[in-house]
Amino acid sequence: MAGILFIISAPSGSGKSTLVNQIKSLVGNLEFSVSYTTRAPRGSEQNGQQYHFIAREKFEQMVRDDEFLEHAEVFSNYYGTARKSLEDAKAHGKDLLLDIDVQGAAQVREKIPAAVSIFVMPPAPDVLATRLRNRSRAEGGVTEEVIQRRLAEARAEIVKYREYSYILVNDILARAEDELLAIVASERIHRKGNDSIEDADRLLKLAESCKLEN
Ligand code: 5GP
Repeated sequence: MAGILFIISAPSGSGKSTLVNQIKSLVGNLEFSVSYTTRAPRGSEQNGQQYHFIAREKFEQMVRDDEFLEHAEVFSNYYGTARKSLEDAKAHGKDLLLDIDVQGAAQVREKIPAAVSIFVMPPAPDVLATRLRNRSRAEGGVTEEVIQRRLAEARAEIVKYREYSYILVNDILARAEDELLAIVASERIHRKGNDSIEDADRLLKLAESCKLEN
């Protein structure tokens, strides 16, 4: 794709959704891929907004039809990014942001090595545990066993942080937001001028004209 593909991953409890919502409201020219999932909607979630909520059979059919760029099982539910998200962003000339787990991120990096991946690290283990517990409580009917399993899965994800281009420690939200915006801005500046022969040619001419003036 001509635009930049950003991937953001974080174990549950690292406070990623606030960050992602912030970037949605502050960054222009960036599309967000709405994933498909077999999990049930939570709270005020609406079909087609946070996710496309679909049945397991439908998800499996989409896998067979090769409709996903990546897909993975997270907390016993399927999640997947439709290839169409990428095609749409490309058609609209926009960058694209995927909010996906570490398994999905690895699959995307394999297919699109130029993707820029960002890992959001929780500030401390106890913060992770508390956030995860609070979220599980809010869901209702979640047993201690499930909470422990989720914690173990979150820890397993954290170990993969080295696979990412950038690591953000989400201790002070305002700082993490600033850093995230800086990553997007700097990647855009970095890619501009490296993307095409026309850009390279333009830069070369500019550099030469500057040299002449000196
Ligand atoms: P939640 O159910 O809390 O919204 O998301 C659970 C996890 O699934 C999060 O880590 C989230 O990033 C991940 N996730 C959401 N959509 C996708 C997707 O399309 N693909 C993959 N691999 N993970 C996803």
